[in-house]
Amino acid sequence: MTLEDILKATGLEARLKGWTGELKTRFVNSLFLSAEYKVFNNVIIRTKRGSTQIDHVIVSPYGLFAVETKDKTGWIYGDEEQRQWTEVIYNKRYYFPNPLHQNYGHKMSLAEYLGIGREKIRSLVIFWGNCEFKTSMPDNVCKGGILSSGFREYIQGKREVLLSSEMIDSICLRLKAAKEDSGFFSGLRHVDEVKRKYSSITSCPKCGGDLVKRVSTRGERKGVAFLGCSNYPRCKYLRDI
Ligand SMILES: [Zn+2]
Repeated sequence: MTLEDILKATGLEARLKGWTGELKTRFVNSLFLSAEYKVFNNVIIRTKRGSTQIDHVIVSPYGLFAVETKDKTGWIYGDEEQRQWTEVIYNKRYYFPNPLHQNYGHKMSLAEYLGIGREKIRSLVIFWGNCEFKTSMPDNVCKGGILSSGFREYIQGKREVLLSSEMIDSICLRLKAAKEDSGFFSGLRHVDEVKRKYSSITSCPKCGGDLVKRVSTRGERKGVAFLGCSNYPRCKYLRDI
C-alpha cells in the first residue's frame, strides 16, 4: 500500500482538496520529501535588486530549488519565451506573467543573497488547483496535487551532488536569518516594494495583467480617463492617471 492509497482509503484526500495552494504545498513538501530536503516557506530576501518573496526554497545536497506556486483552475497555455501566459475558463481568457520569468528573478536574488553560483539553484514552478496544461511544458513546470508526483520526481531526479554539508548548514542559517528578519524589517521593506508595484503604470499589481488606458462612459466620472486591468471583469483593479 502506498501513501497515496492510504490517503484515499482514509478519506484524507477529499479533506485535503479544500486546502489552499500554499498549505497543500507545505503539507506535501513536509510529508513526501525525505529529511535530506529542507524546506523554507515564504522566504523574503533583500538584495540590491530589491525585495523578493519566494514561495518555497528547498535545500539539498543536490542543490537548491526555488519554487514558485500558482493556484489556477482553467486551461493553461504558455511557453518559456512568452511574457504572459494564458488561463482559459469557460472561453474567457485571462493573462498572468510568465512564472518562469518571475522565478528566474527569484533565483538570481537567491544566488546573490546566499553568495552561491546560480548553477546550484534550480527553478521549479508548481501549479495547484484543478487546471490543465494545454501546451507542452518544460520539465520544471509541474502540476501539483496530493496525488500528483511530477514535481517530486523532478526534485528527486536531480542526483548530482552540488553542495557539501558545510555549505548546506551555512545556507540554512542564512535562510533562517532571512525568515526571522522578514518577521519585521524585511516585512516592512517588502511593504515598500509592494507600494512601488502599486504605482506601476504598465502592469496590474493584483494579477500581473497589462494595465490599459480607459475612459469612463457613464456616471459622475464620465469622460475621465483611468488605468484598468486588461483582465477585467475578472480583475477589477483600476487607478487614476
Ligand atoms: Zn489585474
